[in-house]
Amino acid sequence: MPTAYRTIDARILAALGGIVGERNLIAGDPERLEAYGHDETAEKRYAHLPEAVVKPASTAEVQAIMALASREGIPVTPRGAGSGLSGGCVPAMGGIVLSLERMNAILEIDLDNLMVVAQPGVVTNSINEVLKKEGLMFAGYPMSLETCFLGGNVAENAGGGKAVKYGVTSRYITGLEVVLATGEVLRLGGKLRKDVSGYDLIHLIVGSEGTLAVVTEVTLSLLPVPKRRAVLLCSFPSVAGAIGAVPAVIKESRIVPTSVEYMDKASIIATCSYLNEEIPYQKAEAMLLIEVDGNDDEEVYRAYEAIGEVCVARGADPVYVADNRTTMDRIWNVRRNIAEALKVRSPRQSLEDIVVPTAAITAFMARLEDIAGRFGVEIPCYGHAGDGNLHATVVKPEAWSEEEWHERLTAILAELYEASHALGGRISGEHGIGNKRLAYIGIDLDPATILLMKRVKAAFDPAGILNPGKIFPD
Ligand SMILES: Cc1cc2nc3c(=O)[nH]c(=O)nc-3n(C[C@H](O)[C@H](O)[C@H](O)COP(=O)(O)OP(=O)(O)OC[C@H]3O[C@@H](n4cnc5c(N)ncnc54)[C@H](O)[C@@H]3O)c2cc1C
Repeated sequence: MPTAYRTIDARILAALGGIVGERNLIAGDPERLEAYGHDETAEKRYAHLPEAVVKPASTAEVQAIMALASREGIPVTPRGAGSGLSGGCVPAMGGIVLSLERMNAILEIDLDNLMVVAQPGVVTNSINEVLKKEGLMFAGYPMSLETCFLGGNVAENAGGGKAVKYGVTSRYITGLEVVLATGEVLRLGGKLRKDVSGYDLIHLIVGSEGTLAVVTEVTLSLLPVPKRRAVLLCSFPSVAGAIGAVPAVIKESRIVPTSVEYMDKASIIATCSYLNEEIPYQKAEAMLLIEVDGNDDEEVYRAYEAIGEVCVARGADPVYVADNRTTMDRIWNVRRNIAEALKVRSPRQSLEDIVVPTAAITAFMARLEDIAGRFGVEIPCYGHAGDGNLHATVVKPEAWSEEEWHERLTAILAELYEASHALGGRISGEHGIGNKRLAYIGIDLDPATILLMKRVKAAFDPAGILNPGKIFPD
């Protein structure tokens, strides 16, 4: 990373305006720039104002912006919908925010190859809305599907509530068009289900948090939508009971559910109150939301019976089955709104997404309880338990001053991340490192790995202008 970047002056603004048109350039207006200076990360300290925002409409415009920025030494931060939770799209070093919001077309639905080609600014959910009539879906989407963009999903390798059975975004990406920091355009892969010609650059770029290239087109493989599904809501009298059941669900039932989501009591109560919703047995200490799917009623019935039995044997009481759309949607709605509900209840918080091997979740939960107890802090927890990916949410106690919060949160996060790493886990399972977790990357990665990653970064972006100040501390 260079020690100094060029600031944007009138000459550069004129050049940017010439590329995207004055209407698609924001500069000199702090109020409008502010909207592009943060994502959904709760703590404001990760925010940073851009000097300019550009909204290109084509790959050629992205190319021209990158060539200009590269020549002039100006940082560029790609931005999707800004729903990220690690400060990834925050222009940490100022410069240009490159918003992909106008590149929002679904370019092709290829029913013969079962592929869709789309621009990065497409709202993720709209892909499945369009595909509904064909009985097809993109299965790797995150829970924020109604707001986030496809390009952001690619850059974060997002994964959501269906990852247990269907995996995460990367599984479905077969082709990418990207613009490098220097302005060159690469077309990688295509509508191929297999491809071993050279290095797998697609899956190097997927999850690279906008630090290696700007994604300008995505080819996704599709799956048929299963015809039937059902949701089990399993109430447990203890956290340990619920978490202990997670690895048993697949092993003992021999069925791979679509989702295994965990919700603790604090998360459920906060969300039901936020939504003014009642779900069955919401006062349980902990719950597992387990979804199964299939193509006929009997298959789905057999699946939920088998999984229900495993949960009952592990102490679930009662197990509620939702097999009509309205009830399933109501239950999922609670799970989907936990992050928002906890944020409304406790705006000062740090939402985490550690990931551990599924068999280590019980041990991690014990460490979490110990950390919360020792620091005297509330840490509600929920998440994609079937993937070992948990959203422990550290909440600022009212009695703590700002200084105490900053100091103690740093120590709490270090302990939480160390606990995850010691159990074979990682500090982030889906939200990424961004500028929020970069100080902790050394917990997960050894110096040789970090050095190699930095060399890869330098090969893609020799001038260090693409999303600087992310992933690695200098
Ligand atoms: C309520 C809520 C629920 C969520 N649930 C999930 C979940 O279940 N699973 C999950 O994985 N995440 C989840 N997230 C996090 C977030 O929605 C995802 O990370 C999402 O993929 C970000 O997409 P975005 O378009 O908002 O990207 P942004 O936040 O705008 O950007 C994210 C990163 O992608 C880069 N980027 C964006 N577009 C491009 C591009 N075209 N080319 C190169 N880089 C680009 C940015 O530079 C940044 O580093 C959730 C967030 C919220 C608020």
